Amino acid sequence: EKGRNRIHLYSDDDAELSVRQTEMEAVSRIRAALEHDRFCLYLQTIAPLKPGGQAHAEVLVRMLDEQGGLIPPMAFIPAAERYDLMPLLDRWVIRHAFAALAQQPPGTSWAINLSGASVCDEGLLEYVLAQQRACGVALENVCFEITETAAVGNLAQAAALIQNLQTLGCRFALDDFGAGMSSFAYLKHLPVDYVKIDGSFIRGILHSPTERAMVESINQIAHVMGKQTIAEFVEAEAELACLRAMGVDYAQGYGVGRPQPLSEWQAANKA
Ligand code: C2E
Ligand code: CA
Ligand code: CA
Repeated sequence: EKGRNRIHLYSDDDAELSVRQTEMEAVSRIRAALEHDRFCLYLQTIAPLKPGGQAHAEVLVRMLDEQGGLIPPMAFIPAAERYDLMPLLDRWVIRHAFAALAQQPPGTSWAINLSGASVCDEGLLEYVLAQQRACGVALENVCFEITETAAVGNLAQAAALIQNLQTLGCRFALDDFGAGMSSFAYLKHLPVDYVKIDGSFIRGILHSPTERAMVESINQIAHVMGKQTIAEFVEAEAELACLRAMGVDYAQGYGVGRPQPLSEWQAANKA
């Protein structure tokens, strides 16, 4: 195809190069999106299952392409992680979520995801304080979600960050609980306020006695430790009833509400 008198030796490096090229393209798109604010916030309600519980919501980020199309987190977060862009993305989300939360009716409370890289970001505490001062948001209305993978290898640092932000009024949730290999070790060492039971367990609660027992046990252990529980990926009404009967504190999932663009969520959640 390249014409006569040419020899082209194909090697695995060629494939590797094209993988790198698309990855470099992804990285420069993420950088450009950060520079031009081409991200937007979605919110998904977390509903109380017990009387007196406070509704709150999780902030979920989406990237916008040049045409305004939505790119889901799973399509850009892995590349952002490999190229150390997560601390910048987490800060973008904190800045914009704080500013939007400060405009909501009093008592509205949101949960913001923190990546593993941000758990080690030594400037994060200062950044949170600066953003709080800039918009006047009440930090009592802010919860941060971290996964045990985020805490791997930085257990002491993660615990210190949690404690420092809790002193300022923020709360913490341990996300995807039970999905990892040593969840209980992390639960023991991280002073979180909430345990989010991983969605993979919720799928089985109606049919599998094992998974029902696992959810019940996680719920019980969390309660003994003085923590509240959130079940994620709750899709069916029967799952909701089952979780309520178990005494789980909160539910999140398509059965409670899909993630909605900030403006839509806001219109549906006026005081
Ligand atoms: P996650 O923190 O576990 O968030 C829950 C994900 O499950 C969300 O996907 C949500 O849309 C989806 N989900 C909610 N309810 C249901 C349900 O009933 N069934 C099913 N099958 N899925 C449900 P999303 O928004 O695509 O986010 C995926 C992941 O990307 C998040 O998982 C989180 O790890 C990461 N992520 C999203 N936004 C941010 C962010 O602002 N910062 C950071 N650091 N990570 C984020
Ligand atoms: Ca989360
Ligand atoms: Ca989760």
